Amino acid sequence: MDTDSRDSEVRNTPDPSTPGGFGIGPAYQVGRVRAHRIVEWNGQLFTRGQVFADVDRVEWAAQKSWLEPRFWSSETDGVTLTIQSFLLEYEGTRILIDTGIGNGKDRPAVPPFHQLDTPFLDQLATAGAAPEDVDIVVLTHLHSDHVGWNTRFDGHSWVPTFPNARYLIPRTEFDFWNPDGGPNQGSADEDQALVFADSIAPVVAAGQAELWEGPLTLTTGTDLAISLDVVPGHTPGSAVLTVSSGSDSAMFVGDLLSTPMMVGHPDMCAKFGDHWVDDNLDQVRAARRDLLGRAVRLGARLVPAHFNTDAGIFVSRDTTGFAMSDGVRPSHT
Ligand SMILES: [Zn+2]
Repeated sequence: MDTDSRDSEVRNTPDPSTPGGFGIGPAYQVGRVRAHRIVEWNGQLFTRGQVFADVDRVEWAAQKSWLEPRFWSSETDGVTLTIQSFLLEYEGTRILIDTGIGNGKDRPAVPPFHQLDTPFLDQLATAGAAPEDVDIVVLTHLHSDHVGWNTRFDGHSWVPTFPNARYLIPRTEFDFWNPDGGPNQGSADEDQALVFADSIAPVVAAGQAELWEGPLTLTTGTDLAISLDVVPGHTPGSAVLTVSSGSDSAMFVGDLLSTPMMVGHPDMCAKFGDHWVDDNLDQVRAARRDLLGRAVRLGARLVPAHFNTDAGIFVSRDTTGFAMSDGVRPSHT
């Protein structure tokens, strides 16, 4: 990859119509913190009818002026799935939030992610962080699409990709997925045991995993605070990272919201066949409403893990509940 093509990719917004599309989003500021998204994979893996059937296609079609083409195709009913990480930089510190699918991982349950091969690390370097520059890896939860680049294969074994990083893992989440005694050993997701073995255990073995119980303050000062809280629902130990700097704030919420339609329909949940994706439906719905309300009150940016937006979203109240704003959803006059 030459320098010119890297430069063009800096400005590249991945095209949701291109399966496997990747790139990095433009940098934006949350007060003193500079943020980037690094997209590992972008495409339409499932249809709305397969995963979000509890909101009728007619309702999606009524919203298509802003859903299409970024989030949904009215023609195919396909929903965009964006797998991405977020790089935060402040005062020489670099935090990477979630680590995608990873290269070369055995993921037979999801064929498009099996033995994936993408230039994710090149993209991350273009955004400003070589592997050795990452100081902190924050994992919102331990699903297979959030932890893959924790490790890379060095020819012999899986080793931490970020040799100087502390990997922050919610203790509840770690215990839940831990095959040695965790309640979810032999999970409904057949890939999760593989995930733990190739993407979590090597980080623990290297002494780089830090199991935390919230709330956890990463940094605090007169005009900058970064903290982690456990907000269970999607998984038992899911975490939210909050940045507050000056009058700006942002909440990186993992999979508490998994489609922009959830902003206007906070009770909808994803389901594959008979299997709900969220661990606890009542809990995740309450958490989602609480989060949306907090985002409105604070004027905070929300950055869900899988939204195909360069810089998250803002949320406002409308007559029936919540709505997306700030250029992603056109003002609904
Ligand atoms: Zn996810």
